[in-house]
Amino acid sequence: MTPERYIHQARADGRTALDESAGKQLLAAYGIAVPKSAVVKGPEEVAAAFKTLKAPVVVKVVSPDILHKSDAGGVKVNVQSAAEAEAAIRAMAAAPQIRSANVEGYLIEEMAPAGQEIVVGGLRDPEFGPLVMVGLGGIFVEVLADVSFRICPITRLDAQEMLAELKGAAILKGARGRKPASQEAIIDVLMKVGGEDGLLMCHADDIKEADVNPLIVSESGAVAVDARFILS
Ligand code: ADP
Ligand code: MG
Repeated sequence: MTPERYIHQARADGRTALDESAGKQLLAAYGIAVPKSAVVKGPEEVAAAFKTLKAPVVVKVVSPDILHKSDAGGVKVNVQSAAEAEAAIRAMAAAPQIRSANVEGYLIEEMAPAGQEIVVGGLRDPEFGPLVMVGLGGIFVEVLADVSFRICPITRLDAQEMLAELKGAAILKGARGRKPASQEAIIDVLMKVGGEDGLLMCHADDIKEADVNPLIVSESGAVAVDARFILS
């Protein structure tokens, strides 16, 4: 499918945002690594889905009503078997916030290799057009707002500078006993999102906001494990 299809399909379905699976397919269409996954309607479809995937997997609720899946009890990581995935889905379906939501299914996806969690995002500024953003994950973004922005399109040098100007830049290099995160892998993703032929430039009229949170970056690569695109 051409990348536009994911956006057209979402609009045809009356959506204002791409669901996680479509968002990841859009990222994959731009060469960004995403976990191998399957979407199931319920526990009865898990066994078949499991045959196509390699454990451990993550199970996530798919609902346009639920923006923060973990907060709603809608994410279970490190799931080792089909039976465990079925149980996870039953438990999710019973959680208060999920029970009252429009649940479209459950995403089952392979675990990304361990690494540091960073955030890559984008938004459309009415004056400057698409902007691309990078930050360190978790509290660094949420509490410390340690992020850097550039107007698209960016060059590799811009991407390098964006990382260098983060206050927590040393963490990516492996400060305090952490394994280093591949800077090249992050720069590659920033280019695929914010570069000249990148996703934000190619869909400037359609994408209002993009959020890859997190991108899990190991010493050798980066995988986008959560994706949210809000349409203009
Ligand atoms: P949300 O942000 O909606 O709560 P996420 O999809 O970001 O849900 O999942 C929550 C957390 O679970 C992520 O920040 C990450 O730590 C972990 N996680 C999710 N998917 C994967 C995956 N495929 N591999 C490894 N860890 C994952
Ligand atoms: Mg997330």
